Amino acid sequence: MFYVLRRDDRYPDVWYNDSDELDPFISVKCPKYPEHQRGERDINTNLWIDIKKPKMGDLVSTVYSDWLITDHVAEIFKAHNLTGYKLHPVKVCNKKLDFNLWELVITGSAGRAHPDSGLNLKLYCEYCGLTRYTPIKKGLGIIVDETRWDGSDFFTITEYYKYVLITEKAKKVIEENKLKGVKIVLASDLGWDEA
Ligand SMILES: [Zn+2]
Repeated sequence: MFYVLRRDDRYPDVWYNDSDELDPFISVKCPKYPEHQRGERDINTNLWIDIKKPKMGDLVSTVYSDWLITDHVAEIFKAHNLTGYKLHPVKVCNKKLDFNLWELVITGSAGRAHPDSGLNLKLYCEYCGLTRYTPIKKGLGIIVDETRWDGSDFFTITEYYKYVLITEKAKKVIEENKLKGVKIVLASDLGWDEA
């Protein structure tokens, strides 16, 4: 069984600090289709964030769905030898915390989802590389293709790389340590009715 990290709505997201020099997005302009213009996260740029509400989980989502973890969580993940991530330092701009925050950058991969997930390429722009897939289907969710999975405890699939998938082992570590700020759902329970 595989699971997905979801926000726990009882814990507010944190924001990107809005000074321009710290913008972690790379602006991509399509030479052919203006509507393809977008910002893509530069994963090599460390996040500078603002905490606008005091309540904070042990795992924290940014408004752009990056996962951040505290020192405490980093130690727990390390102690259990969880794999498939690296940690990038996060700077908190508007507050002084008595611990550090780290961005959980996922390095584990399962490549393309299993064909039974029915996630098909919907759009690929040869001019700018914009790629879109059909929505995750209700009742199917994300089906991991274990032949493509690198065995990491934290990993993503190509089609929807913002969803952090985890193993039974990682789920157990999060639950047994009662880590707050995250809900763990079955990968097969993701998805929505087609519009
Ligand atoms: Zn394009």
